[in-house]
Order: sequence, then C-alpha cells, then structure tokens
Amino acid sequence: MANEKETATTAQKPMDVIIIGGSCAGLMSGILLKRKGHNVRILEVAVSSEREALAAGIGLQRDVKSFFEVEDVLRPKPLGVVNPGFRVLDEKMDVKYQLPVSLNLTSWDAVYYRLRANFDGYSNLYNPELPPHARDAKEGSVEFITGKKALKVEDVKGRMTVFAEDVRTKDKTEYTGDLVIAADGTNSTIRRQLMPRLQREEPGYVIWRGTIPTKNLSQDILDKIENKPLVCPYKHNYLVIYTIPGEKGSLEPGQREINFAWYFWPKDLSLKDIMTDVDGHHHRTTIPKGKMRPSIWQYQIAQARRTLNPTIATLVESTPAPFVSVVSSIAAPKAAFFNNRLFLVGDALCQPQPNIGMGTTLGAYTLTLLVNQVICPSDGKPPLDPDNVAEWETKVLQECDVTRCRSVAFASWYLNTWPKIAVYYLRYYFKLYWQYWFGRRTRVFTSIGSSR
Ligand SMILES: Cc1cc2nc3c(=O)[nH]c(=O)nc-3n(C[C@H](O)[C@H](O)[C@H](O)COP(=O)(O)OP(=O)(O)OC[C@H]3O[C@@H](n4cnc5c(N)ncnc54)[C@H](O)[C@@H]3O)c2cc1C
Repeated sequence: MANEKETATTAQKPMDVIIIGGSCAGLMSGILLKRKGHNVRILEVAVSSEREALAAGIGLQRDVKSFFEVEDVLRPKPLGVVNPGFRVLDEKMDVKYQLPVSLNLTSWDAVYYRLRANFDGYSNLYNPELPPHARDAKEGSVEFITGKKALKVEDVKGRMTVFAEDVRTKDKTEYTGDLVIAADGTNSTIRRQLMPRLQREEPGYVIWRGTIPTKNLSQDILDKIENKPLVCPYKHNYLVIYTIPGEKGSLEPGQREINFAWYFWPKDLSLKDIMTDVDGHHHRTTIPKGKMRPSIWQYQIAQARRTLNPTIATLVESTPAPFVSVVSSIAAPKAAFFNNRLFLVGDALCQPQPNIGMGTTLGAYTLTLLVNQVICPSDGKPPLDPDNVAEWETKVLQECDVTRCRSVAFASWYLNTWPKIAVYYLRYYFKLYWQYWFGRRTRVFTSIGSSR
C-alpha cells in the first residue's frame, strides 16, 4: 500500500480518473491510483458485480505477484495453487523433461474478487470478511459502476469525457475526468475508436478448454495430474494441464479443479463452423461455456479418443462445460493519446496469444509503470510529464512486442515444423538482444516474467 508520505504528496492534487473496464487491469490500476489519493471511477459494461471466470486459469507471474505482495489487504491469504515446474510428457505420459518454471496458478474469479475487495471493499463468499484497514481515509474516492458501456472518449472543453450507454435502459451518460485509462480488454471499443484499422493476427489454430472439479475424477487420474502441471505434446498439437482453485476460490484438496488448454490446428472443421454457437451466432474470439454446438464437441472428443493418451482423453471428456477460443493476438502501436490524458493498458493495449500465462502479468507491468512513473512519478517531475510518458510508452510497447514473440516461439515448439520454429525463436532472441543493446531493456532474460 502507498506509504503516508506518498499519499499526502499526491493528495494535494487529486485527479479524477475514469477507468473503462472493471476486470484485472482496470481494478489493479484503480487500486494503485486510489491509494495514491486519486478519485477513481470504474465503468464496467457487465450488469452485475457477480461474474464468472472463463475458466482458463490465470498465471500469477512476476508483476501480478509483486502487485498482490504489496497491495493486497487480505494477504497472507493465498490466492493460487503453486504448480512446481511444468513436466513435458511423452505419449505414454512418462516425463521427458521438466521446464524450469514454477507457476502460481489461480482462477480469474479468485483474482477478480480479491481485487474488488481491495478496490471498493466488495465482499462475497470468496472474501466474506474484510479487515478494517481495507478502507483508508487518506485514499481517494472510488466508484464501480456496472452496466455502463463506454462508446467513445473525447476531449470536451479541456476535460476528458467518456460517452457511455446504460446497457439495460439505453440511457446515455457523459462522465468527465482529468484522465482516462482504457482497460476494456482485447476487443477494446476505445482502441477501435483510436485505431480503427488495427487488425488481429490469427494463425489459424484454436484452444479447446475446460475445467474439471477434482472430485469428478478418479484417484488414478488425479495421481497422474493433480498439482503436477503438465505439457502433453502430440503431433502438431499440445495440451497444457494444471491445478487451480475450485469454487469460491477454495484451495483445499478435493475442492480444486483441473484446468486444460488443448492447442489444436482444426483439419476437418473450418474456424467458421467451430465458432458458430448453438444459436447460430458467430463469435470472434471465444464461444463461452454452454454455447458450443454439441456436434462440434463430439467431433473433438472423437479426436481426443483417437490421438491422446487414454488418461488425457478421459480428462477432456469429463469436462462439464467445454469452450473454445480462436488463437489471435493484437498489439496497439501506441499507448498514450489525447495529449497524454488517455492511456491503453492490459489486453486493450496488447494481447499476446497463446498467452502462456503472461497476459495478466503483462497488463500488471504496463499499468504499474503507468501509475508509478507517469501519473504519480517519484522522480520529482510533475504528473504526466511528456518525457516520462514517452519513456513509459517505449518500455511497454517493447515489452508487448517481445512477449508476443516469446508466446509464438513457445507455442511453435509444439505446433510447427522445424523451419518455422527456427524463425520464431530467432525473431524472439533477436528482439530481446536488440532491446537490450539499443533499447530500454535492462536484463536480457532470466525467466518467464522477469526479463526486464
Ligand atoms: C469475465 C471474464 C472472465 C475471464 N476469465 C479468464 C480466464 O479464466 N482465464 C484467462 O486467462 N483470462 C480470463 N479473462 C481475461 C483476463 O482477465 C485478461 O486476459 C487479462 O487479465 C488482462 O485483463 P484486462 O483487464 O486487460 O482485460 P479483460 O479481463 O478482458 O477485461 C476487460 C473488461 O472491460 C469490460 N469492457 C469491455 N468493453 C467495455 C466497454 N466498452 N465499456 C465498459 N467496459 C467494457 C469487460 O466487460 C471486462 O470486464 C477473463 C476476462 C473476463 C472479463
């Protein structure tokens, strides 16, 4: 949490900050800013504060971990399951080698409710009792407004103005502030407003995903997979399997869940077929749980039975609510707009895919740096100093670029042929060293999430 001196300094000039999007990046930004004394209003399109994960698991890597270590009023209450080094298996499920990366993995809902507890003291079964110091008089005011879809942002007479629509009543409202942070995710409305021609990159493969309560699996399967993060490569497709908290964030054995992501080039089905749901609606990125056409899932189960180890095939078949995403990535070439009064953060700025557990961490990096070096700088410069903004933008765009290259290279190892693997790894290492020698990178590479 911000110390008293920092809070008092910035409290002399509190800014009104509007954050668009109340998920991980929006809430983390809001927590940092309110603790520095700024008044924060989050506009969220979802109509309820009670929300569900997509159930794909979230990696708590370097920058998210540091965020919670410093900011979380509920610490030391654990947030994730520590999955020691990923084991790469052969088709008989024998360990070929172990990746030297230990990952703390959790669920989106566990992160979301923990952030809400910290932002506005929102309490539910995930965090029934908040400690008394959760509300601090030195902090700025906070508001989390649901059901408000931001349509566009404009500078109206020197004030940043967000034009929003109530998704229930269709009423229009204008919210004004000193600053706007757009954290409205991978399909960001605001990024589209600012860069309408920016395109997603889609290599053409999909991720079949699901989560299975451990209580629904046999002991034999659990012995092989519970708390043992696995990478299971097959010919040009692979699965990543790991353990995450169960319902209401429970970390108790017997109440956890097993999460899998199966990266797969569809052969007999077109992406259009896969991404059309039971109601005939076509989805751009993800068909949510319960909406996939049964014939499509049956087809994929047949693939599982034919190609996967029987234990893994049984796991896939046991998924109560499978869902599927098209792998795609997008990165904005610019992060600061409106004369440094609108900033893109999180997935709105860059979504690396596959995200290899890096998506939330990348978001945490971009927004922590924004708050600490641009909005509330400790170097004696005024807030929003153009040099600090330029420095921030260079750093975060470089990090987005290198993270995207790393994700593609990692996935290519299991999905592509050797010439492509070589090209992707060469590109990744070239960018790393280029940034180290000629850019702002201070360390070349140590481990995932700690290469800056
Ligand atoms: C409900 C939900 C469940 C998720 N589950 C998982 C998961 O299980 N595993 C995983 O890896 N990732 C999941 N994610 C994505 C994950 O949170 C992000 O990839 C990552 O943490 C970066 O977060 P973000 O805040 O930048 O983007 P997001 O998490 O995508 O958040 C964007 C937020 O902006 C809101 N929004 C969008 N457009 C507007 C608008 N015009 N006006 C106002 N609000 C808007 C969205 O409703 C959302 O709350 C989930 C996201 C959501 C929203």
